[in-house]
Amino acid sequence: MQQYLLDSLHELQAHLAQSYQLYQVIDNDGDTSWQHVVQAPYGELVSKLPQSSAKGFFFTEQETLYVFDGQYFRETIPQPEPFVLFGVQSCDLMAIHYQDIFFEEDPYYQARRQQALLVGIDCVQPCQQGFCYLVNAGPGVRDTTADLILHPLENSQWLLIVVSERGNAALHGLTLTPASSDDKKQRWDNLSQCEHQFGDHSYILEGIDKLNRDLPSDAFWQQVAVQCIACSGCTTLCPTCSCYGTQTKVMVPAAAINSPETGTEGGEPNGVKSSTVRFWDSCLYEGFQREASFHNPSEQAGDRVKRFWYHKFSHDFVPEFGRYGCIGCGRCEQTCPGVIGVHSVMKRIVKDA
Ligand code: SF4
Ligand code: SF4
Repeated sequence: MQQYLLDSLHELQAHLAQSYQLYQVIDNDGDTSWQHVVQAPYGELVSKLPQSSAKGFFFTEQETLYVFDGQYFRETIPQPEPFVLFGVQSCDLMAIHYQDIFFEEDPYYQARRQQALLVGIDCVQPCQQGFCYLVNAGPGVRDTTADLILHPLENSQWLLIVVSERGNAALHGLTLTPASSDDKKQRWDNLSQCEHQFGDHSYILEGIDKLNRDLPSDAFWQQVAVQCIACSGCTTLCPTCSCYGTQTKVMVPAAAINSPETGTEGGEPNGVKSSTVRFWDSCLYEGFQREASFHNPSEQAGDRVKRFWYHKFSHDFVPEFGRYGCIGCGRCEQTCPGVIGVHSVMKRIVKDA
């Protein structure tokens, strides 16, 4: 594993921007979000976790899967330019790793994923609601989840660690100074110090244990669910949530618009067409599992809330993904207007279940 010492990130950013579309987290008056940085200055790396994770880069909020031109169905696989996500925190990288498994056979996801270079950044301070250290997702970037890793050192210098072939190739043409053993040691010291600064989250472990012993009753979940307004904030922001729905939209020639027979919309000049889109769905919606027969396995709000938390922490999913479905980012706690994010729910399980 090659490791280098950088005096600043600007040269690396400029080098990568020659071959990749560069995306970075930008802080806009406290609102942090991923943005395309078109040209220098590239700006400093923001250490705050962005409100939205990087999942939308690969599993987009809405996209066309295929169109029907009246004769043939045609897939619409995306063909993005190579792009780099510069400065992804460890927990969000673990979420991408999780999604890579879920979407392994999905050509739309993979078309984007294959074009991406992931530059991770170690966290040296705990974030507000985070507990990555408890669920094997941080604060240090895991070697298997990134192509390159950045670690902030003293005097505004950086340690650059190469952890994949793709990362190595991306550095071709840059003159780099090898890191010393002191620089490498500083990384482990900083990460260990950071882990010790997290608060006491033992109630999360206790909650996971109770949940896996199926101790929370249906009545408990029903009580919790009274506070869910099905806004989908949690599933939208959760970086490991991957549920989606599909819908086919039929378009008819202009002459047929407003026809009482068709009742359809559109007006394509080249004859009848349809396009099928997929979009993010939410397991907290009442109709999420409703079948065509109107049978609904999760008709009660309590069943839906329970389902969400089992998907995050049940041992049943560990064999498939090698880990829990939660990477400890705390976004659900920050966003839920009903105060039933991960910390609140786990505390209630410990106390009441
Ligand atoms: S369940 Fe909450 S804390 Fe866990 S990954 Fe999803 S948003 Fe983050
Ligand atoms: S964010 Fe809270 S209120 Fe909104 S859907 Fe999720 S659990 Fe329900």
